[in-house]
Amino acid sequence: MDRSLSLYIHYPFCVRKCRYCDFLSGPADSAARKAYLGALEREISLVPEFIGKRPVRTLFFGGGTPSLMEEGELSSLMEALCSKFTFEEGAEISMEVNPGTADLSKLRAFRRQGINRLSIGVQSFHDQELALLGRIHRAEDAVRIFHEARHAGFDNLNLDLMSALPGQSPEKWRDNLEKACSLGPEHISAYSLIIEEGTPFASMELPPLPGEEEDRRMYHETGEILLSRGYERYEISNYARPGFACRHNCVYWTCRDYLGLGLGASSLMGESRFDCVSSMKDYLSAGRWEDFHEEKIPLTLEDRMEEFMFLGLRMTEGIRTGDFEERFHVPFEEIYGKTAEKHLKEGLLAEDMGRLFLTERGLDIANYVMSDYILDR
Ligand code: SF4
Repeated sequence: MDRSLSLYIHYPFCVRKCRYCDFLSGPADSAARKAYLGALEREISLVPEFIGKRPVRTLFFGGGTPSLMEEGELSSLMEALCSKFTFEEGAEISMEVNPGTADLSKLRAFRRQGINRLSIGVQSFHDQELALLGRIHRAEDAVRIFHEARHAGFDNLNLDLMSALPGQSPEKWRDNLEKACSLGPEHISAYSLIIEEGTPFASMELPPLPGEEEDRRMYHETGEILLSRGYERYEISNYARPGFACRHNCVYWTCRDYLGLGLGASSLMGESRFDCVSSMKDYLSAGRWEDFHEEKIPLTLEDRMEEFMFLGLRMTEGIRTGDFEERFHVPFEEIYGKTAEKHLKEGLLAEDMGRLFLTERGLDIANYVMSDYILDR
């Protein structure tokens, strides 16, 4: 059994809320941010020994805007983490960076603290689009932060881009992709905007959104452009130069264990899931490991099999039927044989050396394909 563990740390503060965002995040003054970090370090110190003993392969600081942290705050957090966990040699340590919150000296400090991968929230290289999204930065900040990250010694950089924005033409999206490629990051994430209920976007009058067909066209062009620039698609929305797939996210897609620390963070450990409390008041007053968490949710065998399929098929290399059998001690054929056969016949799935993966056509209607893997209870 693979004993290694991945850690996710949630930093729930931002300068201000973006108009499309439904993450657990928001603005707060420095006293509130300090109090939170105190509680986070307390939570880390309370991690049970049987979890703390597992070697850490990847660590991801997400949010929110973790790049709002000052060097002293990050160094104290890293100290707390290092006194609880042992990191594997070459562990991937990523941080999300909002271009409006960092400069060269801060990035150098992050590098000194052991961060070795940055995920830069660019979203767009057009100021008009950034303003519409409610981002705090301008396009020139994204370009500046990229070069500063290189100067600070980062050789593993991701750029986050967002397509299907209100009023966005395919030309503008192509231009965003070209600008991203011209910087030469190791990794590009390209997600379509989803308008979530309860966000300002859901109630605003917005320029028209690209239609479904246009959205599909942008998606296909994204693959073509990035492929021609040396990026491989390894997941529905993620592209990387060979060897630079995000190891942390691959842990999620392959259903391996991860521990989430911080407000609202989720964990998957063996056969159960558990979430940290999402009320700041409860989080700050938690004194025992149990107080930091909502009740554990045991996963049934069916839940775990479905997740293995849903998440695994997001990756272009798909799933290995042998892994399924090793994990669940039952022949793949017996559980999903008929469904997979149907998808193979329809050209939605392909097979190669024990791997099953979505074809281009399957990727286009991935949600439909995956819904066929829901099991009867
Ligand atoms: S910076 Fe990120 S987490 Fe913060 S409000 Fe904007 S999208 Fe949400």
